[in-house]
Amino acid sequence: TQVWTLRKHFQGFPKNTDFELKEEKLPEPQNGEVLLEAVFLSVDPYMRPYSRVQMKEGDVMIGQQVARVIQSKNLKFPVGSHVTTHCGWRTHYLSNGSDLVLVLPEWPKNLPLSLALGAIGMPGLTALYGLEEVCQIKSGETLLVNAAAGAVGIIVGQIAKLKGCKVVGCAGSEDKVAFLKQLGFDEAFNYKTVRSLEEALKKAAPDGYDCYFENVGGHFSSVVMPQMREFGRIAVCGSISMYNDTEPQKGPYVHPEMIFKQLRMEGFLVHRWPHKHPESLKRLLAWQQQGKLQWREHVTEGFVNMPAAFMGMLKGDNIGKAVVKA
Ligand code: NDP
Repeated sequence: TQVWTLRKHFQGFPKNTDFELKEEKLPEPQNGEVLLEAVFLSVDPYMRPYSRVQMKEGDVMIGQQVARVIQSKNLKFPVGSHVTTHCGWRTHYLSNGSDLVLVLPEWPKNLPLSLALGAIGMPGLTALYGLEEVCQIKSGETLLVNAAAGAVGIIVGQIAKLKGCKVVGCAGSEDKVAFLKQLGFDEAFNYKTVRSLEEALKKAAPDGYDCYFENVGGHFSSVVMPQMREFGRIAVCGSISMYNDTEPQKGPYVHPEMIFKQLRMEGFLVHRWPHKHPESLKRLLAWQQQGKLQWREHVTEGFVNMPAAFMGMLKGDNIGKAVVKA
């Protein structure tokens, strides 16, 4: 068994030397236990801020994976079945079953299991809840999403289109922008090359935005807020532009628009609606099967490359969900 540990707490952007690959020996499964082998592992932005609060130096890196049962003394999880689990960056894992979730029984044979970490997994649920529960988005409204070509962003934009909205997305490369247009986004631009973010946002939606699905935070947020429409809603999902800061950024400030336009801004975590997960995953899968929800992945081969995949995702190498094939 191999595990990736946090050798040193990250200072600024993570470095190769912050991680350490270790060997571990696992005992044979006892009654009720199963032995799992990683199939796909997820690398996600939250690992960067959560490493500070949830991990000590030397701990196994946190994270979710899709795993196959290779030995079982638990009837609920027969050999060959697939589960998702938050067991961290490890090739093998011994579980008593309490922390395992079986992949949906209706999962189509030809659909990659990695989607259980992406479009039909945590990022897909995040997109759905951010739009429906937090933004309470309605047909005919205009939505802005940033980090739009990422795991959450591509699902946000597509669901909003399904709901009859105008969708504007920003991302960090020309390839990403082209992909967003291909997905049906009404407007998309590269926030790194536009002359002025403010002008680009105005041009994309001259009448302003009803909903803002916030993935980036910081300066970006400050520029968007004055462009919100009356009774606009801001779903604060992430603030990736700040995760690697060593010094706190100045601002963003609460704008007077917040009051005059009676905006609502609400942070949320996908874990707020666990009772909805099974039904919501079925909805996402149904949209996918009906051809209404496209997906894309950035797959890195090899468990040994977990840190590289993680750092690549933080830099923006990925279009769609960043995953590692074990
Ligand atoms: P992505 O697949 O979108 O990958 C991260 C992307 O962020 C990169 O591809 C990059 O794209 C973009 N990015 C990196 N640095 C910056 C920066 N300084 N400014 C703007 N964009 C940047 O990740 P996810 O879809 O998994 O996550 C997106 C956001 O959602 C994150 O903030 C994450 O923390 C949050 N999240 C929150 C959850 C919740 O429960 N609240 C659950 C899941 C995710 P680009 O090329 O466009 O810069």
